[in-house]
Amino acid sequence: MTAQFTSSNPVQASLPDALKHYFGYDRFRLGQQSIIEAALADQDVLVIMPTGGGKSMCFQLPALLRKGVTMVVSPLIALMQDQVQALVDNGIGATFLNSSITGLEAQQRESSILNGDIKLLYVAPERLLSDRFTPFLNRLKATVGLAGFAIDEAHCVSEWGHDFRPEYRQLRNLRQRFPDTPVMALTATATERVRQDIVQQLALRSPVVHVASFNRQNLYYEVRPKSRNSYSELLDLMRQTDGSGIVYCLSRKKVDELAARLQQDGVAALPYHAGLSDRARSENQTRFIRDDVRVMVATIAFGMGINKPDVRFVAHYDLPRSLENYYQEAGRAGRDSEPARCTLFYGYGDSKTIEFLIAQKVDPATGEPLEEEQRIARQQLRQVLDYAESPHCRRTIQLSYFGERFDGNCGNCDNCINPKPVEDWTVEAQKFLSCVARCEQRFGMKHIIDVLRGSKDRKVLQRGHDRLSTYGIGKDRTADAWRTLGRSLLHQGLLEETTDGYPVLRLNAQSWAVMKGQQAVQVAVVPQQQDAPDLMSDRAKADVQMLLDLLRSLRKTLADAESVPPYVIFADSSLQLMARQQPQTLREFSRISGVGTYKRTKYGPRFVDTIRAFCEEQGIPLQDDGDEAVETSSPTPPSGKESGDRSALSRSYYATLELHQQALSPEEIAAQRGLSSRTIYDHLEKLIEAGEAIALDQLVPPEDQTAIWQAIDAVGDGSLRVIRDHVKEAYEYEPIRLVRAAWRNESKIDKTTDPF
Ligand code: ADP
Ligand code: ZN
Repeated sequence: MTAQFTSSNPVQASLPDALKHYFGYDRFRLGQQSIIEAALADQDVLVIMPTGGGKSMCFQLPALLRKGVTMVVSPLIALMQDQVQALVDNGIGATFLNSSITGLEAQQRESSILNGDIKLLYVAPERLLSDRFTPFLNRLKATVGLAGFAIDEAHCVSEWGHDFRPEYRQLRNLRQRFPDTPVMALTATATERVRQDIVQQLALRSPVVHVASFNRQNLYYEVRPKSRNSYSELLDLMRQTDGSGIVYCLSRKKVDELAARLQQDGVAALPYHAGLSDRARSENQTRFIRDDVRVMVATIAFGMGINKPDVRFVAHYDLPRSLENYYQEAGRAGRDSEPARCTLFYGYGDSKTIEFLIAQKVDPATGEPLEEEQRIARQQLRQVLDYAESPHCRRTIQLSYFGERFDGNCGNCDNCINPKPVEDWTVEAQKFLSCVARCEQRFGMKHIIDVLRGSKDRKVLQRGHDRLSTYGIGKDRTADAWRTLGRSLLHQGLLEETTDGYPVLRLNAQSWAVMKGQQAVQVAVVPQQQDAPDLMSDRAKADVQMLLDLLRSLRKTLADAESVPPYVIFADSSLQLMARQQPQTLREFSRISGVGTYKRTKYGPRFVDTIRAFCEEQGIPLQDDGDEAVETSSPTPPSGKESGDRSALSRSYYATLELHQQALSPEEIAAQRGLSSRTIYDHLEKLIEAGEAIALDQLVPPEDQTAIWQAIDAVGDGSLRVIRDHVKEAYEYEPIRLVRAAWRNESKIDKTTDPF
């Protein structure tokens, strides 16, 4: 069943309306609308957006608004299945043809396509251009029509990209065979060279090129020093964050160990690495995608083809190999644009491990070191270290790596939120460097720190380093503090370290300048983590959390019944909104972002029931579903005061309005009309929200109004319980409901008429 777009001419109805109808979203993401407009005007388009930017929407919505079928080319079966599943779950006619289905199934699908039941057809490139497929394509074009081609992961056509696929090369024939059919190419690639290649290879005709920023605003980036506490920090992080996460480790062994340890500590985690059998890998992946487990501990083998949009955190337990790797791996978090956390645990020792691995890079034929490759790898590692140690905005550093300028102060990274205070550590640096000199530049960091702190370590005593003038002069600082200083000196080039696998500290000209007092040393010191203030009270938060858990488990039940991943039913963001706003009627429910017409009908009643049951249990007053007239009318309440607009609210409301205007109290109205006062309050609320002439002062004393109004300004109008909590329960629910209605009426934005 395909939900129909009700306007007879879809182009007349606005694009935002179509977006809400089919996908339930309230607004377009940056760039989407203009791309869609270009596609609807039959232009070629090249879309470059970072992962999670919402590329699919750019061809999916036009496909639904155009006559005929849109062919989508996609390289991986898993990606195809995911997208088709999500579309079908929105009641949209979509299907795929690939090697995973039988010949008979393929035939059935082809005939249903020719019947016009399908708007989006996903195929692998080799099939699209095969001789067997040509007659079908021609028939398709002659009958239902061919609206356009969408080439997903278009960077696969380029040998310069990291994912070159020879099959993609054949796509250049499309233009010759279907010269009039518009093409949209989409990719998340970052390099200019690949972009040019795409245009050329696919023979795009003066394409509209859209390059989105690579800034992933919703990702919070942080770097934490790796220490003995890192494991418990990781556990805390998992306990503080809801939802799924990925933890990347460098080696298979570490993956297995960490996964086992997390399991012991009660975290539902699974391992993923190239050492597991294909079956185990694909099973673990499915369990992760379906939310049967929360955490995937993985090597970088886990990534390509992971389309899970609701990954809430990605932690790197080991250093990534390059900043580009880090960007892509961390970027698997928050594809749904909801806040997500990217944590890098940075241990200086890890860089030694990677350096060791780099030194292993040799030509398998000759055994000679691959110097060029090693050099590049070392440079990439250096960039990762600089990133990790920098006191500057993490986002700025990442984006500058892609040649994009960003002016810092992103407000969503550790360095911007807790700027690292810079301290003058010149005296400490002098102590440290003299100690290196006294030890004759023959020892590594640990030994120097041991000497400074007056350690009785055997190695120190054996060398007689307890008799050095620098022995014990650094007792006032912790070993960690000295290490911070030591690394900072290295990174500022005020000290050198040998790189032959036995790191020894060496002095350079700058070191001597520091010791002679010719140069000051500033060090960024690591502050304590601090949480952003939150306006919600603990109790309200607990409520939201409780309801969220209920909604999650309902989602999981529904998903399991349909054998789909939970995010296909509703995205995390939609559940969060439901938990905060607690919509008690289908009408309110349909206002939640992510609830389109189809899903409202399919899932709405179950979710609304759960929310109502929760509210009842918590003593939050239930709202009437209202009369038929309200339930089925436009979701936007009428804003005008003219009688012409009145049809939207039923007569019963206006009977209440009339009595109110005769100065009767709600209780008196209830008595006179033989209705409950709850119903009357409900009427009043809706009348106020609709902008009818209700004398609010008669119902709620003005000073109470002010207090409640301010509370709503502070915590939003989502949940009555949250508002009441904010005013310390000084007011009952009824006045809060009435003031909220007035607040809503005032803040209502004039929307263009909604056709639904
Ligand atoms: P990409 O292919 O660019 O990585 P997707 O197309 O998978 O990204 O989209 C990422 C997520 O964003 C999906 O869950 C999608 O449903 C959602 N999304 C796309 N457009 C919008 C929008 N306008 N409003 C809200 N969510 C959107
Ligand atoms: Zn920042």
